Amino acid sequence: MSLRMRLQPTDRGSGLTSQRVRDRLVDRLRDNGIADERVLNAVRNVPRHLFVDEALESRAYDDTALPIGHGQTISQPWVVAKMTETLMQAQPSKVLEIGTGSGYQAAILAALGLEVHTVERIGELLRTARKRFRQLGMNIRSKHDDGRIGWPENAPFDAILVTAAAPALVDALTAQLAPGGVLVAPVGASAGQSLLRLSKDADGRITQETIGSVVFVPLLSGLVD
Ligand code: SAH
Repeated sequence: MSLRMRLQPTDRGSGLTSQRVRDRLVDRLRDNGIADERVLNAVRNVPRHLFVDEALESRAYDDTALPIGHGQTISQPWVVAKMTETLMQAQPSKVLEIGTGSGYQAAILAALGLEVHTVERIGELLRTARKRFRQLGMNIRSKHDDGRIGWPENAPFDAILVTAAAPALVDALTAQLAPGGVLVAPVGASAGQSLLRLSKDADGRITQETIGSVVFVPLLSGLVD
C-alpha cells in the first residue's frame, strides 16, 4: 500500500461495504485462481464502492461488472485482478492504462505503488475519476484523449493495460512498450473476445499468448465531452 494514499475504509461504508464484505470478495478471487497476494491486498484496500453510484454501492463487492453511465462499465473484480496479476509478473514501475472509466483499475495499480498514467475518451467519466483519485490522495496522471494513440510523450511504459476491446492489437500501443514490458488487452468482436498478453523481450522481439475469454466494452474513436 502506497503511503501517499489516505484510505478511510469507514467512510460511507455501511454493512454492505464493510471490511468483512470486502474480505469475502478477496476470498472469492483467491478461490478463483488469483494468487498474487499484492494484488489481493490492493483489492482489499481500495474501496470499490467509491467508484460506483451510491445507488449501486450495495453491489460494489459482488464479483460483477456494474454500469457507470455513458453505456460503460466498471470491470468485474476478477478481470481487474487477473489483468493486474498478469501485468505484475513483468515487475513494472511505470504503467499506462487505456480506458479510465470509473478509475477503479487505475486506483488498484496506484495502490500497488506503480506510477500510473491513464487515458479516457469520455470527459465526464474522467472528471469523476479524477475526483475519486483526489479523494483517496492518489497521484495518478490522466488525460482526456483517444487512447489508441497511447501517451507518446511519456513512453515507454513497463506495462500497458487496455480495458476496452479492439478488433486487433493497436500498433501504436505495442510501440510504446519498453523492452521487457508486457501489454494486456482484450481483442476481438463483442461476442468473443480474448484477453491477450503480449511480451516484448530485451531485443524488442514480441511473443503473444491468450489468457482467457472476456467481455469488454468496445475501444472507440473520437472524444466525448
Ligand atoms: N478501467 C475501467 C473500465 C472502464 S470500461 C474501470 O476500472 O472502471 C472501458 C472504458 O474505456 C470506458 O470508460 C470507455 O469510455 C473507454 N474507452 C473506449 N475507447 C477508448 C479510447 N479510444 N480511448 C480512451 N478510452 C476509451
